[in-house]
Amino acid sequence: MRMVDLIEKKVNGGTLSDDEILYIVNGFTDGTIPDYQMSAFQMAVVFNGMTDRETADLTMAMMNSGDVVDLSDLKGIKVDKHSTGGVGDTTTLVIAPLVAACGGTVAKMSGRGLGHTGGTLDKLESIPGVCIEQPMERFKEIVNEIGVAVIGQTGNLVPADKKMYALRDVTATVRSIPLIASSIMSKKLAAGTDAIVLDVKTGTGAFMQTVDEAEKLAHLMVSIGKLVGRECVAVITDMNQPLGLAVGNALEVREAVELLSGKIPAGDPLYEVCMLLGVHMMRVSKLAETEVEAREKLESALHSGAGLNKLRQMIAAEGGDASYISLDRIDELCRVKTILNVYPKRAGYISSMNAERIGTAAQILGAGRATKEESIDPAVGLVMKKRLGDFIRADEPLCVMYVNDESKVNAALEMFHSAFDYSDAKPEYRPMVYDVVRA
Ligand code: URA
Ligand code: CA
Repeated sequence: MRMVDLIEKKVNGGTLSDDEILYIVNGFTDGTIPDYQMSAFQMAVVFNGMTDRETADLTMAMMNSGDVVDLSDLKGIKVDKHSTGGVGDTTTLVIAPLVAACGGTVAKMSGRGLGHTGGTLDKLESIPGVCIEQPMERFKEIVNEIGVAVIGQTGNLVPADKKMYALRDVTATVRSIPLIASSIMSKKLAAGTDAIVLDVKTGTGAFMQTVDEAEKLAHLMVSIGKLVGRECVAVITDMNQPLGLAVGNALEVREAVELLSGKIPAGDPLYEVCMLLGVHMMRVSKLAETEVEAREKLESALHSGAGLNKLRQMIAAEGGDASYISLDRIDELCRVKTILNVYPKRAGYISSMNAERIGTAAQILGAGRATKEESIDPAVGLVMKKRLGDFIRADEPLCVMYVNDESKVNAALEMFHSAFDYSDAKPEYRPMVYDVVRA
């Protein structure tokens, strides 16, 4: 087999066999296929796509390029949750402990934030002492003892994706639905859980900018899951504004603690998306007969404080100081030099928000990285005071910025203000949840 022939086949709109796909993935992972051939191939996929069967073969080849975690010695149905990446999305810190408090087994390997999106690992590390690098044996021990662990990737999982993603990032080949589906699903399948709940975001802060594209990605990922015998459900949710009000690491941990302390009401977008994901995690874990029963159990664990207590146990098990995980102390993690009220450019209804730009504004303040090497400031970021569709007066704050480095404020403000449009008429209501996709 020659790589150049396989590239040509895809350029001509052909369909590759499983052996041909395996040849490409293995050759690229071991270095015998150079970057330029792989990027040419990926670009051909961007334009000519892949069949569902090719995408499933690609996913399996990628999954098998490294270690595949075996969680079979853990009790219960192991469940994972994954978001395609958003702004102000702190659902994992809420829902992983809540589902565990209801008897679930949540074993999750999370990622870091990159660019405008946040990452659960960075949020966890804003809590003093937390070590997200846990050996596999300790990870399993924590899951068995308390029902939930969220850690960084351990072992050599999907090296093919690390190389392929790094190349896509710099060759404008990220936004291809088969490439995204195989990238996400190879990692989720290699992480070894029985069931996966996927949150596919759509809107200004997401990879999938339209509901149509999000539907395609969701269906593809669910069908890959089914093909390999894993229970897989995808929800499609809105990312046309930050999900929670907080954007920043400790700030998002604080919002998770507020939610788990009963301070955020039902109907709030973060609350509702947490419940939606939690309900499906409960259902695939066989912990509730119906969605109504699942929600009742989750809300009862929320209001009894059992969910917050699970989060504390998990933080402590990972070496963190769990005493911060309370309304009394969480503010200490959000201490900054300057707290700045930001006012709108004009009064009016907020008719659109660009969630990516809001995430980028927080990143500029130091909450995220522009490159993998940069370090982050856990306390900085912003807290929105208004939602999409709200009316705002010119003298009302639109957000509060948490700042440690004043030299970054002007650039952050410019980016932030460019995210908003205002109107005189009340804008149309937008749903938070577009669809639930099952096999
Ligand atoms: N997230 C991933 O893990 N991979 C992609 O290709 C896109 C988003
Ligand atoms: Ca074959």
